[in-house]
Amino acid sequence: MAGKSLKLYGLQHLDILRRYRDIPDRALHDMRVVGQVLPFRVNNYVLDELIDWAEPDEDPFYRLTMLDRHMLDSADFDALERAMRVGGSAPVEVTAAIHRRFNPHPGRQMTMNMPELGGSGVSGLQHKYAETCLVFPASGQTCAAYCSFCFRWPQFIGNRDLRMATDESQRFVAYIKVHKEISDVLLTGGDPLIMRASVLRRYLLPLLGADLAHVTTIRIGTKMLGFWPYRFTTDDDADDLIALLEEVVRSGRHLAIMLHISHPRELETAAARRAVQRLLSTGAVLRSQSPVVRGVNDDARIWQELWSREVRQGIVPYYMFVLRDTGPRAFFEVPLARALEIYRGGIRQVSGLARSARGPIMSTDMGKVAVDGVADVGGTRSFVLSYVQARVSDWVKRPFFARFDDSATWIDGLQPLSSSDRMFLARPEPVVARIHH
Ligand SMILES: *Cc1c(COP(=O)(O)O)cnc(C)c1O
Ligand code: SF4
Repeated sequence: MAGKSLKLYGLQHLDILRRYRDIPDRALHDMRVVGQVLPFRVNNYVLDELIDWAEPDEDPFYRLTMLDRHMLDSADFDALERAMRVGGSAPVEVTAAIHRRFNPHPGRQMTMNMPELGGSGVSGLQHKYAETCLVFPASGQTCAAYCSFCFRWPQFIGNRDLRMATDESQRFVAYIKVHKEISDVLLTGGDPLIMRASVLRRYLLPLLGADLAHVTTIRIGTKMLGFWPYRFTTDDDADDLIALLEEVVRSGRHLAIMLHISHPRELETAAARRAVQRLLSTGAVLRSQSPVVRGVNDDARIWQELWSREVRQGIVPYYMFVLRDTGPRAFFEVPLARALEIYRGGIRQVSGLARSARGPIMSTDMGKVAVDGVADVGGTRSFVLSYVQARVSDWVKRPFFARFDDSATWIDGLQPLSSSDRMFLARPEPVVARIHH
């Protein structure tokens, strides 16, 4: 089968959109301005097969990948526009100030999760929960298209100080080797599957060695199924990739492909269905996770359809996230109370097999916090919360409470209900909160 080849389009190619739809000059100009500070990339699959051009403003994938002037404060937008009149692109003093306000490392990833080996930091690794270690391969820090809300945006904008990535010197393997508590290694990015199979192999094979027998699970986080499903079918090294995944499974490890799926339509194209079948044929388990994003999937019916379709196609629903406190979050965020309604509305209408989805979940400094419900506690309307994953493992599955607030969008907007709830909502100092091995 002859394949489609990946064509990436950035800001300099915006005119390509006019092949699909008559887009006003003003909208393209706004995208160029916002693109000075936010990542922009689409590709021929997203444009040809995902976006429904009949009503782009209503389309989840248009909203997910395109830029809009309202993603920025109007003062920032104006400052960028003025700066661009001089040199064509905005200088770094202007863009850096906006980036700092975007909170590049939510959850204080740089200070709290950077592991050490022999007295120096191991770059490209995050070790927050004892049993799971995150690896950011250096050449897997881009994606086949970019989500405008993405909290990994410092990886894409080329600012070395803000980037996290392991070079291929493999110090991460040495780190994992001596940390026997690590059972799960998660390759993430960006998108590790943007790498050639031959490069990915250099990350995966060392993990299969006998000296890393404590690593029982390998997870790969990816959006390729949604943004470039041909990665698994007709790309020139698709067969090598599939063979590599089979090799991991044959080694006896559990291989989990963690699919970022925003909307059920991502699973419907012929290319995506074929890709799912090919991935399943390797023996990997496919699981799905995604944030609730305003204008993309903030509707219970979408999640109901997503979760039931996933089960039908052989994908296990895993996490529904709340958008993190970073980037152009004000444009995309959904209040916690609303996210809970969406989760309940979706989950109560699917079969038990699709109720493996947990949510809505905030991935915070201290762990993954689920909003479990709203209840009257001693006469006060309250959120019922619990950690599904925590730095302090004793916190897991202990219910705690915060005053109900229908506009709060993140944990830092919540007030503890009583003094015993305060600990779970506090922002501790990094030094106190280091991982206990
Ligand atoms: C979510 C996450 C993990 C994995 O958590 P699981 O609950 O095991 O899926 C590991 N590390 C970090 C930093 C995470 O955010
Ligand atoms: S696919 Fe993932 S890493 Fe890439 S832009 Fe989207 S959210 Fe970010």
